[in-house]
Amino acid sequence: MIKYFIYTSLILFLLTNNSFSEISVKITPDEKVYQGNHLTLEIEDSSIQDKNFVVTINNKSNKAYRLKKGKYICFFAFPADMKEGKYKVLIKEDNKDFYDGYTNIIKKSVGTQNISYYKPKLSKEDENKIKQEDELVEKTKSLNSDINYWNTPFILPVNDYISGIYGIKRLLNGKYNNYHTGVDFASSQGTKIKAINNGKITLAKYFSKYNSNGNIVFIDHGLGVSSAYLHLSKILVKEGEIVKQGQPIGLVGSTGRSTGPHLHWGLYLNGQNTDGDNWVKFTNKNKNILENKVY
Ligand SMILES: [Zn+2]
Repeated sequence: MIKYFIYTSLILFLLTNNSFSEISVKITPDEKVYQGNHLTLEIEDSSIQDKNFVVTINNKSNKAYRLKKGKYICFFAFPADMKEGKYKVLIKEDNKDFYDGYTNIIKKSVGTQNISYYKPKLSKEDENKIKQEDELVEKTKSLNSDINYWNTPFILPVNDYISGIYGIKRLLNGKYNNYHTGVDFASSQGTKIKAINNGKITLAKYFSKYNSNGNIVFIDHGLGVSSAYLHLSKILVKEGEIVKQGQPIGLVGSTGRSTGPHLHWGLYLNGQNTDGDNWVKFTNKNKNILENKVY
């Protein structure tokens, strides 16, 4: 009888005490990551409860998305101009620190590109319109829904020659402006642009003449991944529409600050731009992490 009692109590204790669950963390790559690339953090929890995991690196926090029961994932991208060095990786579980580690950001040599551009004289009205449009773009970069739309590798939006790599230092009329936040393709006018994966259209707008982005489309793919397509001549989708991988979403153009027809393609992980070409390769090499559909 005593034996039976102890056994029952132990079971109850295990069921009610959360601290018995085992949590493991896998970070890839595990030691160092190039400027402009990303870390993948996979968290596995043996308990059945749903938890909130938040990853913080260099004062930026991203939540981990829940996959199937007990599995969580967080993609953490770093800007191309992030200072090299050692950074703390902190993971909180329901606001309590539970993991503390480090990652090293290492230099990626890119190069410099000069762009000659004639800045038009703008009216106050034009400037206000551009400001509103740019704010909308900033907001859309971080519009990540909890719905996951993808579980297959990403594809490139066009199959044309890359004329501007991600991260290259950009000079505007000889003066440093910013690093290139996307990938440019030398596509001809009217080329069909494909959705790089399934998702929901979060922005599809014909912008005003002097907006540097030109006509623009944004897709939210889920798990914090979103993509942007700039300078379009025609938009083929509507905001709120669900698109399938490979579906044409617009046509290449030269609207906005553009020296000729091309596609500027942006890839964002939790609102931070990263190298889309690298992301496509990463998802093709790591199909295993995509097998876990959202629970
Ligand atoms: Zn570009």
